[in-house]
Amino acid sequence: MIQGKKLITVLGATGSIGVSTLDVVARHPDRYAVFALTAHRQVDKLFTQCLAHHPAYAVVASADDAARLQAMLERAGCCTEVLSGSQALVDVASAPEVDMVMAAIVGAAGLPPALAAARSGKRILLANKEALVMSGALFMQEVVAGGASLLPIDSEHNAIFQGLPAGFERGLGGSGVTRILLTASGGPFLNKPIDELAAVTPEMACAHPNWVMGRKISVDSATMMNKGLEVIEAYWLFGAPAEQIEVVIHPQSVIHSLVAYADGSVLAQLGNPDMRTPIAHAMAYPERIDSGVKPLDLFEIGRLDFQRPDFERFPCLGHAYRVLREGGIAPAVLNAANEVAVASFLDGRLGFDRISDIISATLDAIERREADSLDVVLDADRRARECASGFVERASR
Ligand code: NAD
Ligand code: MG
Repeated sequence: MIQGKKLITVLGATGSIGVSTLDVVARHPDRYAVFALTAHRQVDKLFTQCLAHHPAYAVVASADDAARLQAMLERAGCCTEVLSGSQALVDVASAPEVDMVMAAIVGAAGLPPALAAARSGKRILLANKEALVMSGALFMQEVVAGGASLLPIDSEHNAIFQGLPAGFERGLGGSGVTRILLTASGGPFLNKPIDELAAVTPEMACAHPNWVMGRKISVDSATMMNKGLEVIEAYWLFGAPAEQIEVVIHPQSVIHSLVAYADGSVLAQLGNPDMRTPIAHAMAYPERIDSGVKPLDLFEIGRLDFQRPDFERFPCLGHAYRVLREGGIAPAVLNAANEVAVASFLDGRLGFDRISDIISATLDAIERREADSLDVVLDADRRARECASGFVERASR
């Protein structure tokens, strides 16, 4: 903390969540200052962010990019120190000066720094759902052992967190909560004839009707794997068993999720679909601060619709429930196979309708075991990637 300000590290600063986070930070210069910003390869964008926020550190993947960014910053008179590589991500997530860490790297690459933040007792603002899906049990253990606090950024989980009773601890027993209702927009292909899905392009899949997001999560929303990952995320965050987590399609994305209680009450959190709301909530919790989000106008929205998800149209959702019930390394295998399949689709090497086939073939091929250490999880992740890549190659021949 410096002079009463909270110091934040933003992992994945150049992404969609990173940019929204920095927008909230910039609205409250009296409350927050930036300790470190990280990006994979977007040096120019990170440069601009460094000039605006003056972090002590910036991190990029390669040493060459680090040298280039360092020279650019020196020429501009900015004294940010530039680091590179995966250990640097861990270091800026766990440095003693840091109060909170926005975990907004996409995919498995975000797991090590998020775990480091947990071990060193930070307030973790968790957007990187893949980390929790891969290693939920280990992650939650590290949060407890490190004395960290975990606040969900995913809009659904943030909404659920807001709807749960004060002081809620994992596990629904005794809390009076009977169900968690996870809303889903249904993505851009909710009503598209199923036989047209084979021909959809990355641009069509990334054109989400309500949210502007990174490309990987946009494709996940189109297959509804995103909702599947979120069911698993809800299991770890709130301790709700699979049977008590229900997915509800709500195309307007105004209700971000709901919590049902034994007395018949159902509490919902509503708002415009803008990630700055959950980000500002988690940053300031338990206080409330301005996020820059437009006030909700119910008259403009007019109506709210709901429908059941179709597991035939969205087989990835079924895969996610399956691995959640199985436990062990199964969710890590699902996540890795999905990352490979989505990247292959985005590169034009795999049809959209084959993503779920790659995942189910990989799940069938990898032998199961308990996820009792990080090494086991990372090994399952590596083997599943190899296996899924083989299936993609065969599918694209
Ligand atoms: P994005 O693709 O826009 O940004 C990803 C960020 O991660 C970038 O800063 C990129 O430089 C960095 N990155 C990518 N690969 C990396 C690697 N190998 N090593 C280090 N850094 C790397 O993604 P996003 O939409 O901002 O999503 C980020 C995370 O937040 C994802 O896990 C996503 O599921 C989750 N999330 C996003 C939204 C949203 O609205 N965008 C909502 C809920 C959850
Ligand atoms: Mg979400």
